[in-house]
Amino acid sequence: MENVHIAPVIGPEIESGYIRIEGDRIAELGPMAQSPGAPGTTRIDATGCLATPGLVNTHHHLYQWATQGLAQDATLFEWLVALYEVWAAMDAEVVKGAASAGLGHLALSGCTTSSDHHYIFPKGRGDLFAAEIEAARELGLRFHPARGSMDRGQSAGGLPPDVVVEELDEILAATAEAVDTYHDPSFSSMLRVAVAPCSPFSVSADLMTEAARLARDKGVRLHTHLAETLDEQEHCLEQFGMRPVDYMDKLGWLGQDVWFAHAVHLSDGDIARFAATGTGSAHCPSSNGRLGAGIARVSEMLRRGANVGLGVDGSASSELTTMAGEMRQALLFQRARYGPKALSARQALELATLGGARNLGRQDELGSLEPGKLADLALWRVDGPFTAAVDDPVCALVFGPQPPLARLLVGGRTVVEDGELRTVAHDATGRAGAEAHRRLMRLAAAR
Ligand SMILES: [Zn+2]
Repeated sequence: MENVHIAPVIGPEIESGYIRIEGDRIAELGPMAQSPGAPGTTRIDATGCLATPGLVNTHHHLYQWATQGLAQDATLFEWLVALYEVWAAMDAEVVKGAASAGLGHLALSGCTTSSDHHYIFPKGRGDLFAAEIEAARELGLRFHPARGSMDRGQSAGGLPPDVVVEELDEILAATAEAVDTYHDPSFSSMLRVAVAPCSPFSVSADLMTEAARLARDKGVRLHTHLAETLDEQEHCLEQFGMRPVDYMDKLGWLGQDVWFAHAVHLSDGDIARFAATGTGSAHCPSSNGRLGAGIARVSEMLRRGANVGLGVDGSASSELTTMAGEMRQALLFQRARYGPKALSARQALELATLGGARNLGRQDELGSLEPGKLADLALWRVDGPFTAAVDDPVCALVFGPQPPLARLLVGGRTVVEDGELRTVAHDATGRAGAEAHRRLMRLAAAR
């Protein structure tokens, strides 16, 4: 790859440089003047492009691709109560179509690694976890599905109806099986599984504790929603007599192997504990805006040394959201709250790349363009007739709407070229998501 502006996230930016890829890794990079011009290699002329690490999405619910545009003006709890009953009708076919379209859409916005948090497993509806894994495999993205769960239905003081919750023992058995079947801890792994009970208001304290024990036994990571809204804080104070982070601390849920989605309503002490324990968080600004949840204290968290990555969150609370769009949204939210120095374009890019890699425990493999790291990178076309007017290519990428994606490489393999999916049929992948929506609406109406 030659003649490209490189924003490597770690190390100095290079205005006109080369990146040499060998197998699935970056072999070397540097200014064009130092290019070895290795003969016999495939050359990509990337004149007019900006190369960044592939973006890393650290919170999602792919199945929600099938329920976008519903409960448009609801709070989180109202929105959940409206949608639980619809989600109860999903089957493996819905999840496969939704995941294909959702992941394809992410790839088109520069995402090379995505997590997913799937926490509803209605009985007799097929293997939903396998369905989303199949979608990621077909597309060729690195995938971190988290086996989610809920065991505290309305009859036990929780928010979800009993029909969408499972029993503690079956959850632990199914989660252990998901890890044993799919988790690949190797360097360059395409698939790692996390353990992810859904949230304090839908999960028992026993499940939280047992899930943490299981994850640590198996050497996998832990994920859940936390401190998303003030309603949640109130619920925790009422039910457990403490705020969300205190509650999770008590259950053994702070640590380097944990990342929380949202973490909007944190106290100064919570932020200090995140930093001291290495607990990460996935900032999901579009979803937080859509549900009126609040604005996370991201720039303060960064200043105090807590790790933050980005997440698009489920599509039902952030319709058609893109990873590139979340960088911009994160920057604008922080500046709206704290002023123009709160977050720079390059810091926003770091959240979307290295911050995400750290959340997933993969900072040695992903998140920056460096020799020895995986060749996961996005090539953005910043010389278009309109984009070229922006003085700085990184500013064009982060401040503006997403520039065209010239190429997306995952482990050196082209997944997107000239804005089109190449590993799967582009249009059919999008249509599979629309079909999943229609199918789920039909199934839900028939319940
Ligand atoms: Zn979520």
